[in-house]
Amino acid sequence: MSPLIVKEIYAKSILSESKVHDYVINPYVGCQHGCTYCYVQRYRKRFGGHEEPWGEFIDVKLNAPSLLQEEIKRKEVGRVWISGMCDPYQPLEKKYELTKRCLEILLEYDWPVTIQTKSPLVLRDIELFKKSDEIEVGLTITTADEKIREIFEPRAPPIKKRIDAVKKIHLAGIKTYVMIGPILPRAEELVEQLNGKVDYVIIDRMNYHYGDWVYKKYNLEHAMSDDFFNQKKGKLIHAFEKLGISCRAVF
Ligand code: SF4
Repeated sequence: MSPLIVKEIYAKSILSESKVHDYVINPYVGCQHGCTYCYVQRYRKRFGGHEEPWGEFIDVKLNAPSLLQEEIKRKEVGRVWISGMCDPYQPLEKKYELTKRCLEILLEYDWPVTIQTKSPLVLRDIELFKKSDEIEVGLTITTADEKIREIFEPRAPPIKKRIDAVKKIHLAGIKTYVMIGPILPRAEELVEQLNGKVDYVIIDRMNYHYGDWVYKKYNLEHAMSDDFFNQKKGKLIHAFEKLGISCRAVF
């Protein structure tokens, strides 16, 4: 793996409209987690002209908080998703604290927020989350098998740390969810492990083909078929609902 290329930049805007929630904030361009299946890699040339391999470059939007401070005054209140095209708690967030500073502004103005991450660094901001009744924090967890995780998400935090993080946030009285998307082999074993730690679960299939070579390399082609996803969908919904946890498929 090559060294990470970090560039500090000044963005033109930060609070963008989104199809998933009302708005989305991406404090970084690129993602250190470098998941093999990540759909965002398709946009890396469009946003910043990056030719480097996915996961090996990050643009840090130094002015994200000051842009937000201005933009929030001009827009109607709506739910903000952090983030859609990067992990807001990727390792560089520890140094730059852009997600944290944006969150402080959103909470000051009482805007509803949906966090989505794979990182236990999210625990750093637990005291901030407690200040809002309109915040939900989601951890993305795609399999219960650490070897499978290493294949598809080689630089993202281990599964156990993500489960521990969502548990701590839930026990602090904050609304939590887990995104099982894309469903990877042995995802169904997460059900018991998430019991008592989440308010709801979202499941999704693999919708993109960037990771196809990984499935082939590790003889996992059966796990990219429509049958695989539909079977897992039925099992996951049934198993979560048996525990009283709402589970919604988005495919
Ligand atoms: S953590 Fe999310 S944004 Fe980052 S590489 Fe993985 S899928 Fe993409």
